[in-house]
Amino acid sequence: MIYIPILLIGMTVTGYWAYLTAYDSVREREYQLLTQTLTLNVLEIINERRELLIESGLENVPVFRDAYQKEVFEELKSLQQATNRHFAIVDKSTESIVFSTMKVPVVLNTQDASSAMIASRTVAFGESNVNDQDVLFACAEFNPWNWKVTVLQPAEPLQSSLFTIAWLTFLVTLLAVVIVSLLMGRVTQILVVSPIEKIKSAASRIALDHKKVTIDLQQNDELGALARDVEAMSGEIEQYVDEAQQANRAKTDFLAVMSHEIRTPLNGIQGLAALLLNTPLSDKQKQYASDLKSSASILATVINDVLDLSKIESGMSEVDVTEFDLDVMLNELVTLLGTNASSNNTRLVYKSKNLESVVVISDITKLRQIIINLVSNAIKFTHKGTVSISAKLKESSTENVCENRLVIAVKDSGIGIEPDRLVHIFDKFTQSDSSITREYGGTGLGLAIAKQLAQLLGGDINVVSKVGEGSCFTVTANVQSRLKVETSNDLASVRDANSAKLPAGLKVLLAEDNAINAVVAQALLEQLDCVVEHVDNGLKAAARVEEGGIDVVFMDVHMPVMDGIEATKRIRKLSGTLGHTPVIGLTAEAFKERHTVFKAAGMNDIVTKPVTVDALQESLLKLAIGQEVTDNK
Ligand code: ADP
Repeated sequence: MIYIPILLIGMTVTGYWAYLTAYDSVREREYQLLTQTLTLNVLEIINERRELLIESGLENVPVFRDAYQKEVFEELKSLQQATNRHFAIVDKSTESIVFSTMKVPVVLNTQDASSAMIASRTVAFGESNVNDQDVLFACAEFNPWNWKVTVLQPAEPLQSSLFTIAWLTFLVTLLAVVIVSLLMGRVTQILVVSPIEKIKSAASRIALDHKKVTIDLQQNDELGALARDVEAMSGEIEQYVDEAQQANRAKTDFLAVMSHEIRTPLNGIQGLAALLLNTPLSDKQKQYASDLKSSASILATVINDVLDLSKIESGMSEVDVTEFDLDVMLNELVTLLGTNASSNNTRLVYKSKNLESVVVISDITKLRQIIINLVSNAIKFTHKGTVSISAKLKESSTENVCENRLVIAVKDSGIGIEPDRLVHIFDKFTQSDSSITREYGGTGLGLAIAKQLAQLLGGDINVVSKVGEGSCFTVTANVQSRLKVETSNDLASVRDANSAKLPAGLKVLLAEDNAINAVVAQALLEQLDCVVEHVDNGLKAAARVEEGGIDVVFMDVHMPVMDGIEATKRIRKLSGTLGHTPVIGLTAEAFKERHTVFKAAGMNDIVTKPVTVDALQESLLKLAIGQEVTDNK
């Protein structure tokens, strides 16, 4: 397409030049014919008559001269009819017309005429206007009779032939432009566009699956060289990506192992501290036990933060979208964190706009984690003030699911952040002041995680803060929303969930090889009025289930002799109802991908260590195990 205007300009210039050349040569030819007619025909006719007069010695006899001149006029008249050219003779000294073949004879203005020597005579020629008509003329003098002889012809036929030339030139130019454009387009398509398209599609493939590509391009020009370079580059990319993925897998494996190794004893410490606090203790012992418990929970937070961050950075954190009531979730958070706020003499308030009766579709876990982090910080850094959460959706929701933008602002009237610290506040391991660590604790990872989680949800976190006045963190996220249509079934299931209770005497088999964790889990299950039997490997667990009488199995994953996964598979192979015995996995592995593997092996649910009474109860209620047992009884 780009060629067309360029060609059009080029060809127009060339065409115009060709037209001018043709125009000049046509005029040249016409003048040649005209001057030849004048010199070879007209002047010859006149000269012949005069020579006849001289030969007969009558040159100076006026009657004979007039007769001979009349013969000349007659011949010119017939020549006019034969050639369609007009002839005029003017007396040089009087400028009076002697003869003319024109109907209205005029004396021609020949001042601007060009001149040339033809057959040793000076001939003037040019263009003039006679009786409102353009004419071409040629004139020469015939001195013996004192005549100026002129030949003229209308310019119109010449003009119309020039007009035809102009049109032809234009059409030929246009045709040439179209043909040349098409040819160039085709050639460009073959030599340039199609190779570039091949390279472009190869580049897209590389971007998509980071694999080595081969480009079907045999050219030996620059594009061919580019294709070879892209192929070589794709090979290197494949290699780098493989290496990066291997390193990532190694990192993930390392994290999974570390997570497991650290969480297992931590589970013991937290559990035992909790159990210890439930026994009769002196005040001092109570203080030690509660310090032990809070130290363990700080350690657990740090481990969770590091694991979260590594998971996000290794790209393993996937967005798990579900439908939920954001308003309810935020109200629950306010209740949960309200106690911390009151102990800091701080008021925690929540207000929402257009969230009522709205279902939000997003990753509730990530959203909750972000808000808990921001609100906990706000409470931590505010004494005797107010922390407010305000949430709104940019668009109002309809009954149909539609894209929306969620904005949640967490504002506090706390200590604020120094401007030079504010720019680094979302960096990892950043606290606005080293004295903060001493005074408030924390790792400086919370905001980094929250920001990355918000970015995973297609949004971000921004902050404005003033020292001594407070801070405001604003979270945005891309979500979907719709108006809630509450059915009677929903209401019934909410009621059921709220009123569900575990029956006493649930027969639980606990398969756990770590003695301390077994003691903790058993004690916690006994707090739920369960009757617990303990085995220390998967083989024994499967054998015990086969004997019958077990309502539910809590199965550790990593165990000697036979691990939890293998044992679960065995249980699933048992015949009858035994094969359907609910199995809840107990694991220190925090990664959801691993949980999926456990579930695929037949586990009904997973509880992550460190285990709590609430987590155990929630899992049992979720699987309606208590319900089934009650129904069976
Ligand atoms: P930490 O786990 O140490 O709280 P964060 O990443 O959550 O780590 O926060 C980093 C630092 O940002 C905090 O140590 C604190 O100095 C500052 N900060 C975060 N939130 C607030 C707030 N609401 N008011 C004042 N300072 C804050």
